Amino acid sequence: MTKNVRVRFAPSPTGPLHIGGVRTALFNYLFAKKHGGEFVLRIEDTDQNRYVEGAEQYIIDSLNWCGIPFDEGVGKDGGFGPYRQSERKHLYKEYADDLITKGKAYYAFDTAEKLDFHRKDHEAKGKTFIYNWHNRLKLDNSLSMMPEEVEKRLASGEDFVIRFLTPPNEKLHLKDIIRGDIEIDTNILDDKVLFKSDGMPTYHLANIVDDHLMEISHVIRGEEWLPSLALHQQLYNAFGWQAPEFAHLPLIMKPVGKGKLSKRDGEKGGFPVFPLSWNESVGYRESGYFPEAVINFLALLGWNPGTEQEIFSLQELVDTFSLERVNKSGARFDPDKTKWYNHHYLQLKTNNELANLFETEVSEKTIGNAITFSNEYIIKVVSMIKERATFVSDFWELSDYFFVAPSTYNEKAANKQWKDETSDIMQKLIPVLEDISDFSSSNVETIVKSWISEQELSFGKVMPPLRLILVGDMKGPHIFDIMGMIGKDQSIERITTAIEKFG
Ligand code: GLU
Repeated sequence: MTKNVRVRFAPSPTGPLHIGGVRTALFNYLFAKKHGGEFVLRIEDTDQNRYVEGAEQYIIDSLNWCGIPFDEGVGKDGGFGPYRQSERKHLYKEYADDLITKGKAYYAFDTAEKLDFHRKDHEAKGKTFIYNWHNRLKLDNSLSMMPEEVEKRLASGEDFVIRFLTPPNEKLHLKDIIRGDIEIDTNILDDKVLFKSDGMPTYHLANIVDDHLMEISHVIRGEEWLPSLALHQQLYNAFGWQAPEFAHLPLIMKPVGKGKLSKRDGEKGGFPVFPLSWNESVGYRESGYFPEAVINFLALLGWNPGTEQEIFSLQELVDTFSLERVNKSGARFDPDKTKWYNHHYLQLKTNNELANLFETEVSEKTIGNAITFSNEYIIKVVSMIKERATFVSDFWELSDYFFVAPSTYNEKAANKQWKDETSDIMQKLIPVLEDISDFSSSNVETIVKSWISEQELSFGKVMPPLRLILVGDMKGPHIFDIMGMIGKDQSIERITTAIEKFG
């Protein structure tokens, strides 16, 4: 690669960033880092009607949380600012004027009502109204009017837009790194508005001007922008600028059925579609996902390493990523897989880190209880149960019996495990436990097991009811590990309570 790699993520602050937007940002980030380039964040806020308060900050926070911060952008000047299009307003008009001077664009005065009339009229005849070569000379614009008339209208302050003059009968050759070569007949294109009557550029003009001025080398964006590529390429040609290279990423598809993954799919399926919470929509962060997991599953939505490898750290992604390995076809979103990734990354955390994340919940749930729990204790609990957890929020349900005595017992298990003789057996076990001075898991195990043999009891008569007594259910790790953890007094207390209840 000869030129400096500079890529940009250019969201419009019209609401929270969809997970698909994060994927676009990620692929830009990976590409930039792989080639030692710059990752720029540009805020495309020219459409004032769709501006949403807080959305820009949300975008920045999301990138930071995911661990893919931008190098240049709002608040991080790299010499190409400002990075909000609303602060670059003054720049665009001269470029639109330049195209007019070059004969590549024209003024159009058609009122909204007139255009609407044409649209409806065409619809009624089963046609689509396209503002282009076949009707532009019949409409109200500087191509169909005498120059004096145009001057007069402009001088009187009449509303106008500036439209691109699409050259007819040309075959455009577009290049896309992912999709290969695309040929487009210019006769099917419309004369898109570049500059609006409110004095603001449209997305197309601002986007091209900024990509040029910011020296963007590669435009990596979602497939929904592919239809704009023909216009963008023509704009570069019209200005006489070298176009960046383009890569249009495949859509992220619904888990089932056809179409693009939407907010509604998340609501229906009970999974997040936003990185961070936004109003009542819960984000990946708040659902307990680790950013490493989110990055990893997003990377594999549309890109594949060409091997069976599924687990990638961010650095490994940077090293392995290439646009050539991005697929053309849509990538189906799999909510179960996102959990699988989170489970994986949870296992990689140290018990210490996990205990720190769990600690607050433990204190909240045990508030007012006589016993408080040390950090070491929580670390040990975490080490015993994390294998079965996908999220830290699963911990309490998996481990509550380490902290509080069961208040209920699984009814089905109780009916099955609590036999006529169980109360008697448990009653006899109490003094045995009382006599143990070293209440470590292994010592308790040795003593209880030999007591079972001495008494000529079967394990099945002692161990399952004991689990029910201590846990309230038939789940949990090795029974003696639980006893070693909760200690002698708690173990005996739980046995006594159960005898009272079932005996
Ligand atoms: N502002 C556009 C968006 O919201 C940017 C498209 C592009 O990257 O060119 O996605």
